This record gives sequence, structure tokens and C-alpha cells, in this order.
Amino acid sequence: MQKLKILSDSAKYDVSCSSSGSKRKNTAGGIGNGHLTGICHSWSADGRCISLLKVLYSNLCIYDCVYCVNRVTNDIQRATFTPQELCELTIQFYRRNYIEGLFLSSAVVKSPDYTMECMIKVLKLLRVNHRFNGYIHFKAIPGCDPKLIEEAGLYADRMSVNIELPSVNGLKLLAPQKSHNQIITPMSYIHNRIIDAREQKKVSRSAPSFVSAGQSTQMIIGATKDHDITILHLSEYLYKKFLLKRVYYSAYVPVNQHPNLPAVYTEPPLLREHRIYQADWLLRFYGFTANELLDESHPNFSMDVDPKCDWALRNLHLFPVEINTAPYEMLLRVPGIGVTSALKIVRARRLGSLSYDHLKKFRVVLKRARFFITCRGKYYADTPFEQDSIRMCLTAKKDNTPYEQMSFF
Ligand code: SF4
Repeated sequence: MQKLKILSDSAKYDVSCSSSGSKRKNTAGGIGNGHLTGICHSWSADGRCISLLKVLYSNLCIYDCVYCVNRVTNDIQRATFTPQELCELTIQFYRRNYIEGLFLSSAVVKSPDYTMECMIKVLKLLRVNHRFNGYIHFKAIPGCDPKLIEEAGLYADRMSVNIELPSVNGLKLLAPQKSHNQIITPMSYIHNRIIDAREQKKVSRSAPSFVSAGQSTQMIIGATKDHDITILHLSEYLYKKFLLKRVYYSAYVPVNQHPNLPAVYTEPPLLREHRIYQADWLLRFYGFTANELLDESHPNFSMDVDPKCDWALRNLHLFPVEINTAPYEMLLRVPGIGVTSALKIVRARRLGSLSYDHLKKFRVVLKRARFFITCRGKYYADTPFEQDSIRMCLTAKKDNTPYEQMSFF
């Protein structure tokens, strides 16, 4: 229990887990089911949604990444599980219905290869000895032998390698023992093996799965001076190049004092993290590119309005769009219209002309959308169609005070 306390606390800054996982059926005499709806969630002290059992194999790190609470030069309590202990803990928690899966990460103990070997032992004990079929998210250690990635990928549902920081320079400055190549190489290996395994499955259904729920990564926001445009371009590259399922963003929580880091009393940039998540959604589901959302003259997201509103306000010449005739791709770009409501509009208007009231039924967020649309030729917003007036309406609350980010700390 003491190890669990230390090692689950050490894992709390790791945000790259979510409830979306893979489907894996229980087998006769086995234990657990992996569900698409995923694993249990909990809320950490800093307000983040975390998945249980989220734990490090060890926090006895040999590296000295200056932003990390577990770095070798920090004077903290250290602990390392044995593979048997961690396996037993997972099974017992599963049986008690505390958890539905495992999120396994680790500091670098002795060497990347040694750490991976220990973590793989946990996977094997769970999958082979206990025939555990619950969801497992496995964090690969950068710099390890590709053979170990291969082995882990046969047991894990999802794998991730942390990209850590948005730029190569940031990595050199804050995590000098890690290199960009050490991170990109396993990502590329996992990507190629996932494609390979899918092809093999087409030929034979009994071909082994490899990381069936895909790979993800995590990036720290605000530890370096990188602009949002750098972050978004990197995410776009990772999604395109390695078909990542998710890039997770983690607002930097100052835990160490260092000349290259923000001061320890700096508030974690949670609103910035939120804006980047919103932009990430626009890249993945709304057909936006990083270049459209930000540019050199506008390298960071506005904190006042979300990235879609911000883009629409800077491109007012494309609006208002007529709901009854605009192409689907343009409807998707209207603030307040999501993928589901855009699809509903396109389907419904085949049957007849849509009124403003129809949009309410389709769950269009009219408090934003009304500034950017017309319906049967009529503009419904009670403000002039120009940037400053619309921006003011979008940013002011009823009592005209601006929105503020709540602090969870
Ligand atoms: S490798 Fe770096 S980020 Fe990972 S636990 Fe060690 S010090 Fe922390």
C-alpha cells in the first residue's frame, strides 16, 4: 500500500489516458472484458480526469528532466514494484470492481531496456498467467530496443510514447538525456506494426493483434516558451505521420525551481491547455489545418473566445452562411455547429427548407451560431455584422464582465 501511494502519486501528472479503449472479449476461464466505453475515471487533486489504476512501475529515475517531480536529483520518497506485486494489485482491484483496466508507466530504472523488461513482465503475468482481458494502456520508454516495443505491443491495447515538449530545443534544454529521435523512432515503429498487424488480420483472423486501440502521446504545455502555433503544427504532423489516436496536452504544473522553467508560483495554464484541446478537435474532426487557425502574426490562441470563433471572426468575409444552402464543410466551420448538428441539417434540408426553430431542435448552439448564419435569408443576431461587435457579444457575460478561468489550485 505504501508503494501504491507513492507510485500512483508520482503518476498523477501523466494525463495521456482516456476512457476510449479497445474491445476485447473475455475467454472461457479468463477474467475481465475490455470495453470501448473504457476504464474507470477519477478526479485528481488538480482537477483532471484520470483513469484507475494509473500507476508507475517505479519512480526511481536515472534521468534528470528538470520539469519532472521524479527526476534523479529530487529528494522524494522512492519505490519500485515487483512485477508480481503490480499484477496482484491489478487483479485484486479488478475483482473488487475498483478498476476496469491498467495504465502502466514508469520512470527510467537502470536503463530503458531494463525498465521495459520489468513492465513487460507485468503484462505477461496479467495476460498469460491470469488471462486478464481488461484494458491496458502501456507507456513505452524512449530509447529502448525495438524488440521490447514489439513484445509489449502484443499484450497492450494502447501504447504511447511521450513527445514531452513541443520543440527539439525545448527537449535539449529541459530533458537533455532524451532526444527527439529516441521518441520518434518507437512512435514510427508502433505505427508501422499497427498497419502491418491490420493487414495480417485481413488474411487471417487469428493473426496476433498489435496495440489494437492505437497509439497516443502527451505534450507538456507552458514549460517552454513555445507558441501555440508550434504545438499545433507538431500535433498535425503526429496525427498525419503516425495516425495517432490522441495527442494529450498537459498544462505544466510547476514542481521544481530551475532557471529554465517558469517560476514555481506560476499558475498552470489550464485555459491555454483547454484552447489547444479545442483546436486539436478542429484539426481532427472539422477539417481545419494548423495554418488556418494560427499564423506568424497570430501565433497564440485568444483566451477570450474559442479557436473556432476566433477563426470565424478573422474570416468574417466567409459569413454569414445560409443554413439551407451552405455545403456541409462550411456548416462545420460555423461556431456553435458541431459534427452531429451539421449532419442533421444536411439530412433534414433534403426534405424541406429549415427554419430557425429547427436549428434549436438540432442542438445548434445558437448563442454563438446566430452571429454567423442566416436562415431563409434572415440574420437573427441583434448586433451589427462586424468583428468588434460580435467579439464583444461572444466574450461578455450577461452582466458584461469577461469570463475567467477558474483555478483548481
Ligand atoms: S525520464 Fe524524465 S520525465 Fe520520465 S520520470 Fe524520469 S525524470 Fe521524469
